[in-house]
Amino acid sequence: MRNLIIANWKMFYGPVKAGAWVRAFRRERLPKDLEISIAVPAVSLAAARASLGRATIPALAAQNSFWEKEGAYTGEISPSMLLEFGVSMCIVGHSERRTYLGETDEMVAKKAAALQKVGIVPVICVGETDVQRKKGQAKRVVKSQVTKAIADLKPDGRAPAVIAYEPIWAIGSGKPCSAVEAKEMHDVIRDVLEKAWGGRYRDEIRVIYGGSVTDRNIYEYVSTNGIDGALVGGASLDPRQFALLCRASTPA
Ligand code: PEP
Repeated sequence: MRNLIIANWKMFYGPVKAGAWVRAFRRERLPKDLEISIAVPAVSLAAARASLGRATIPALAAQNSFWEKEGAYTGEISPSMLLEFGVSMCIVGHSERRTYLGETDEMVAKKAAALQKVGIVPVICVGETDVQRKKGQAKRVVKSQVTKAIADLKPDGRAPAVIAYEPIWAIGSGKPCSAVEAKEMHDVIRDVLEKAWGGRYRDEIRVIYGGSVTDRNIYEYVSTNGIDGALVGGASLDPRQFALLCRASTPA
């Protein structure tokens, strides 16, 4: 299984800057055996697609989507609308959406299932807060988040989910979770997958790490057994820096 690195631009880059980012990134040398995806703001999907043309590297991802196909849901965007831009993955349940927009585990589950139904890979974000970790609740919290999020998913559909373990205290803080600690949590996530879907899916579903990943620490994560890639925020905003991070994820 190839490693997967996803850029999460968050609420940066409207159409003009998004197009320029893609053109700059496409000029960079990239490892062949790595899957790369960019999660851009919805308003920039068209510009990113136009700059990508038919190219599939990087693949195009979205940062959010609603669970209904269409209807009176002002401001929302459906999975089938994302498909029109050639979106192949979509982040769901990012901690920033859970914190600022009240996204619940139940909403995350509905969004993930709706995406999978149209063939878009849901990238489900889970992770504990600093306080929860200090209280020794990290494993329980993450176990519960994953169990609820995958409730309506199929393990072997054409868009098998990706789980992103993103401890909230490590996101944008410059204080990454160590690869050893991340692996421990990835094992907890894999226990949930095995329990829900059977032993085969323990290793077949990709579990990636997110939280202050840079070109300097990426290799530590992806060279750890059980960590299948990374979700990268801050270090993905500069296309050259992100390309450097992608190159640093493979052995020299
Ligand atoms: C993220 O946005 O999911 C993230 C992990 O951000 P950062 O890499 O900046 O910590």
